[in-house]
Amino acid sequence: MVSEEEQQCGYVAIVGRPNVGKSTLLNHLLGLKLSITSRKPQTTRHNVLGIKTEGACQLIFVDTPGIHNDQDKAINRYMNRAAQSAIRDVDAVVFVVDRLLWTEADELVAERLAGSEAPLILAINKSDRLDDTDLLLPHIERLQKRLPKADIVPISALQKKNLDVLEERIKTCIPHNSFFFPEDQITDRPERFLAAELVREKITRQLGAELPYQIAVEIEGFETRGKIRHISALILVEREGQKKIIIGEGGQRLKSIGQQARLDMERLFDSKVMLKLWVKVRSGWSDDERALRSLGYQD
Ligand code: GDP
Ligand code: MG
Repeated sequence: MVSEEEQQCGYVAIVGRPNVGKSTLLNHLLGLKLSITSRKPQTTRHNVLGIKTEGACQLIFVDTPGIHNDQDKAINRYMNRAAQSAIRDVDAVVFVVDRLLWTEADELVAERLAGSEAPLILAINKSDRLDDTDLLLPHIERLQKRLPKADIVPISALQKKNLDVLEERIKTCIPHNSFFFPEDQITDRPERFLAAELVREKITRQLGAELPYQIAVEIEGFETRGKIRHISALILVEREGQKKIIIGEGGQRLKSIGQQARLDMERLFDSKVMLKLWVKVRSGWSDDERALRSLGYQD
């Protein structure tokens, strides 16, 4: 145990447009340590995704739902507000981009970051797949002009390349504070929420990224009986066609989503899990603020 005076602790946001590798990076930074050994409810202004305590430093990674252009739907307005508040008062922002690409969506993220005073680290991800490494240096120079404050680090989240360097840079931004969470705690999300997220993740993984913004997962039952957690989850979709896709031929798709989610839940909760999944069409849910709140999307 390090003494409290030596401890560093702070919040880190990982931002970037979809598909640049934020989740992969987070998982590898956290080391996929999927076991909740102690939970102490703690409310913070942030949506904590994962906590990494190593030696004298505790990094608290917070959620920044994607930044969307389409402001029409309530869900997107919520997502934008959440992204804004997440970057406002963190100790470090890691902005992830995909190799030498700089799209309009990246530009939008950069604009949003202009309002944040937190130190900025720009991670050029997927460096394992650079076609022409000669182009990297000139690209870094251009990015440095666009974001003069940024500390630029090429990484490969997938192959865990340079993640130690990235982590060191993050640590230099983290203030001296005693730990906010117990050392063995890896998240502050309630188990129900984690269960819902796991189901969502399996759907994304199996069916691609188009569906997830149009589905929601609601935990209807969460009960521990004996040594077994009985969990039932409702997958809400917007249209009949989406329901068919999720259920799949002869129910095979839903079965496989359920199996994978259950295995992860068992690891995460360290207990046996009985999981029941249902799919229901509730059209217009994503455009109804009240429905959103009832599903746990709150400001
Ligand atoms: P997110 O939408 O930003 O959270 O992105 P994900 O973490 O879901 O990653 C999107 C895709 O990029 C996935 O197929 C990842 O496997 C892939 N990916 C992420 N990091 C890397 C990397 O460092 N190298 C390569 N080659 N692929 C990566
Ligand atoms: Mg992601």
